[in-house]
Amino acid sequence: MRLSQYFLPLLRENPSEAQIVSHRLMLRAGMIRQSSAGIYSWLPLGFRVLKRVEQIVREEQDRSGAQEILMPTIQPAELWRESGRYDDYGKEMLRIKDRHDREMLYGPTNEEQVTEIVGASIKSYRDLPKNLYHIQWKFRDEVRPRFGVMRGREFLMKDNYSFDLDAAGAKHSYNKMFVAYLRTFARMGLKAIPMRADTGPIGGDLSHEFIILAETGESEVYVDRDFLDLNFENPDVDYDDEQIVQTIVDYFTSLYAATGEIHKPEACPVPPERLIATRGIEVGQTFYFGTKYSVPMGAVVAGPNGEEVPLEMGSYGIGVSRLVGALIEANHDDNGIIWPESVAPFRLGLINLRPADDKCSAAADDLYGKLRNAGIDVLYDDRDDSPGAKFAAMDLIGLPDQLIIGPRGLAAGNIEWKHRRDGARQDLPLDTAVGRFAA
Ligand code: ATP
Ligand code: MG
Repeated sequence: MRLSQYFLPLLRENPSEAQIVSHRLMLRAGMIRQSSAGIYSWLPLGFRVLKRVEQIVREEQDRSGAQEILMPTIQPAELWRESGRYDDYGKEMLRIKDRHDREMLYGPTNEEQVTEIVGASIKSYRDLPKNLYHIQWKFRDEVRPRFGVMRGREFLMKDNYSFDLDAAGAKHSYNKMFVAYLRTFARMGLKAIPMRADTGPIGGDLSHEFIILAETGESEVYVDRDFLDLNFENPDVDYDDEQIVQTIVDYFTSLYAATGEIHKPEACPVPPERLIATRGIEVGQTFYFGTKYSVPMGAVVAGPNGEEVPLEMGSYGIGVSRLVGALIEANHDDNGIIWPESVAPFRLGLINLRPADDKCSAAADDLYGKLRNAGIDVLYDDRDDSPGAKFAAMDLIGLPDQLIIGPRGLAAGNIEWKHRRDGARQDLPLDTAVGRFAA
């Protein structure tokens, strides 16, 4: 993509409404634009990151055996009356009436909708287990929408729902998702710590929140210091092997980590000198709630002896749009964002320092074409602007590597390669540049 043609509305000044760094940088880097409180449009650069995050989430869901569907954003109130949550959910739920005065709502989550689908379609224990997910916009009329996409009112969530015949099966489904979450966040370079958590309006009695430690986070957390030494690198796993999956879950639940809602100082097993009390960003949560929805909604199957068995369920959410903000909280410096390669909007930035110089432009155009032919995503700054402004813009948007073409280096057949994260610069022979970055 040529920057001269790209829709990238960068801001020079820090927007006054943004209180935390990710919100500030997303606005300054032209990633999002607010529509109303907690509701945003995603502009080209931001949308690319959102899609990459979404794709990692999708791939790890698929790998775990979950199947993708797409449920609607608008749901009938009736469904929520069946589960008993219509009145319980409170003002966070956006309630709407259609032209026939039928009560509808903009889904804050989809337990009822999916229980209806599976309950109506699956009749025998032989068709279990099943795990369905979707990646869909949610609406929650939050009391205090803030911090940009971190606490939006409209936000993108991956949510999935497991259905099993019995509690042992449901536990394995829960464990699989637990591991899928570890893999998902590890692929984004994030250390998301699974913490024992309260279940809130979803219900149930087993739940973990996956939390990234950050001072700007909204969750109060208590973590055994030794947790930080665990190996979060992507665990290889055979999801059908219950024992292996359980072993990974045991490894990550052996040390104390709890959210403020359930942490009780007097009952904490960790001595105070080993306990970290800090804050974090919740990027995902897993719930096991058994038959909480299947019983009132009549979602039953015929068991092995023909008896009616209500489905054992769990649900699992990942904040896809929140992750974009969380990734920036975890990856930035004074100059701007530093994208991990796995979610970067473009793999490379290419800067032509002297568009007015024919040789420079010819070399930059040529390299741009070759990089694209090699399948590398490049953002090419071909604008007629000062070198300083180009460097600042490229650092701000945080692409992992920058290639810089100027007349001086070119005379010696070189370009400059700058690694965004550590700032290291080195000369690179022009004719090796494509090979260096081709996959
Ligand atoms: P929170 O405690 O932050 O309000 P929650 O526990 O109510 O979140 P869940 O029902 O667990 O949210 O939703 C699953 C995931 O969706 C969360 O882990 C979070 O990453 C994301 N999420 C929830 N609410 C929001 C929001 N208002 N804006 C952006 N992402 C959100
Ligand atoms: Mg939660």
